[in-house]
Formats: sequence, C-alpha cells, structure tokens
Amino acid sequence: MDIKQTDKEYIAGTYARFPVAIVSGKGSLLTDDEGKTYIDMGSGIAVNSFGASDDVWVRAVTEQLGKIQHTSNLYYTEPCARLAKMLCERTGMKKVFFGNSGAEANECAIKAARKYAAEKNGDDCHTVVTLVNSFHGRTLTTLAATGQDHYHELFQPLTPGFAHIAANDIEGLKTLAKETKLAAVMIECIQGEGGVVPLERSFVKELRAFTEENGILLICDEVQTGNGRTGALYAYMNYGITPDIVTTAKGLGGGLPIGAALLGEKVASVFGPGDHGSTFGGNPAVCAGACSILERINDDLLKEVKEKSDYLVSAFTGADGIESVSGMGLMLGLKTTRPAADVVKTCIEKGVLCLTAKDKVRLLPALNIPLDLLQKAAYSIMEAAKS
Ligand SMILES: *Cc1c(COP(=O)(O)O)cnc(C)c1O
Repeated sequence: MDIKQTDKEYIAGTYARFPVAIVSGKGSLLTDDEGKTYIDMGSGIAVNSFGASDDVWVRAVTEQLGKIQHTSNLYYTEPCARLAKMLCERTGMKKVFFGNSGAEANECAIKAARKYAAEKNGDDCHTVVTLVNSFHGRTLTTLAATGQDHYHELFQPLTPGFAHIAANDIEGLKTLAKETKLAAVMIECIQGEGGVVPLERSFVKELRAFTEENGILLICDEVQTGNGRTGALYAYMNYGITPDIVTTAKGLGGGLPIGAALLGEKVASVFGPGDHGSTFGGNPAVCAGACSILERINDDLLKEVKEKSDYLVSAFTGADGIESVSGMGLMLGLKTTRPAADVVKTCIEKGVLCLTAKDKVRLLPALNIPLDLLQKAAYSIMEAAKS
C-alpha cells in the first residue's frame, strides 16, 4: 500500500503532513517506510517523553494489557488511583480528573472553574480570561479559550464567556476585572503553539497575587510544558507560584492518550457524581504507562534536561542564520533567518525531524535523548539554518 496516497484519499484534510511515513522507532531514532532513519527532535509534539517504544513503558503498558485493558469508571482500578496519588503528592494538588487529551483536560478545568465561581459568586460570574496568542485546544470551548482569531473563523458561534488580554499585561486584567465578574484566568507559562514564548516572571507573580486577592481561580495549562519538559516537573514551578488548577496531557502518557486536570484545595470538592465524566478517562493500560513515565521524571532526569538545554542554547546562540533562542528546558524555539518551514524541510533531508511554531523552529526532543544524538541533530539544524 502507498501510505501517503491512501492517507490523502481517505483521511480528512486537517493536517499539513510532512512527506514522511514513520513505521517504527527506538528511543530518539525513527525509521520511515523507505528505511531512512531520523533523529527525532519533536517526540510526537512532546508526547513520547522517553522516546519511541521505550522498554520500561512498553513493559508497564503490556503487563497491564495482560490483566485488563479497560473497565468502566463505574469500577475501581489500581493504575489510575496510583497515578492520581503520585500527581497529587508531587504537585500539592488534591484531586485528579482523567480524560484523554489536552483539550479535555482544559474542558474539565473550565467546568470546574465555572461551577466553583457560580456556587460562590452567582452564575453571572463565569468569564474565563486567557491570553492573546495562547492555545488551549480544538473543541468549541477550548477554541473559544484559544486567543488566536484565525482558529475561530467559520466555526462560530463558539462557547461564550471568554475574554482575552495581552500576555504580560497585568493592568489589562485589572481593568477587565472592574467591568466583568471573572471566574478564572488560564495561562500557558510558555506559549507553545504561539511560538515558544515564555511569560515574564513578574507578570506571572503579579497575576497569582491579583487572582488570589480577588477570588479568581488561576489555571495553568501544562499540556505541552508539563511532565519534565521545561526542566521542572511542571513549568509553573519555575515561576515559584501555585495555581488552583493544573491541566496536563501530551508527555504524561509517554505515547498513549491521556489528559489530566489537577484540582487544588479550593476546587477539590467542586465535582460530584454526574458533573463530569469520560468513558476512556483513567484507562488502566494508559495510566500504568503514565505511572512508569512519572516515576522516572525525578531530580536526576530534570537536571539532565537542564544540562541538555544549556548545551542546545549555547550551540544555537549566535549561530549563522539563528537570530534568537527562546523557551526553557527541552522546549526551545529558534527564530531563523530562513523561513522556519524551509529550515525544517532541509532538516528532514538531513535526517532530523523538527517542528515549527508560528515563525520559529520548535524543538521538543525526548527527555532522555542521548547526548551524541542531540549533538548530531544540533549540527544538522545549524547547517540547515545557514542562510
Ligand atoms: C496540544 C495542546 C493542547 C491540546 O491538546 P490535545 O491533546 O491536542 O487536545 C492544549 N493546550 C496546549 C498548551 C497544548 O500545547
């Protein structure tokens, strides 16, 4: 079968795919249908935290598959309870809701915030503020949350009750809060799809203080930045704040679909039976795999992430054709002189898979990528970036 041709004929045209059909992989090396190998600098958009077909993760998932692959959420299972306990112990959050994607994690966070605010302040207190240039998902509600108009066109009407302020504009939030009852503010500490743009430290600190003082919930969308990606377990930890709700997904499952909304003290008991749910949420095989991922995101690994990040940042800074480097940990964006898409195309020819985000080349390699592969990839990227 011609994979690319069949895909083009039968798959809905929502993705502008690169001309590569991946058939297998091990760690940070992937192989296509023509037998060509690539160094993977994208890890499935920050999903394969420990690379392709990681042995420990495969064992955890397959052992669970051999016991039971799924029960409904009407019954208890061990892996999801164990994963939730681990997430709470490591973040200080109190309860977890599991779904299957980042968008679902954010939907849950928004529902939790709306219910909390309605019970506390009346149901006209429902507005959720997000930032311009943010990305929170593709469902109609998380699209409404996403602060980029071009995603909204022709999908109207979206869920009402969202407002947007510019990133780092604390005064804009204060003005908005005078006019409108606010339920929550939702941020990505580093805007991922928006071009790997970290928020300013002072803004995040002031935002936390302002929301705290005014009874507004703070939600951190850690779908992309979470699970060790930035050199901390969650990116908010780099900013020295504690949000009320944390959402995560991508890297938590190590390659299987999972989303989680972590509920802090204030909202821990907001949901009762029937308020929310998901057939697949907390699936035992997925959660067994996620446990094996989270267990290994320890201080040693986080230190390694930071060291690899330092290596990449110093290699790219000032390199010919690279104008700036942004991001944290192994979530980096390169502003290149050549268009980012062209650099990525040249990288593919050189056997390196990178991503783009807006006008940047975006790098999200596996957290455990071996140093020699990282160096090789960095060298190819610098060659590709040369103008
Ligand atoms: C990818 C992403 C989402 C959406 O996650 P899906 O699993 O595709 O639904 C939401 N927020 C952020 C910050 C993301 O990077």
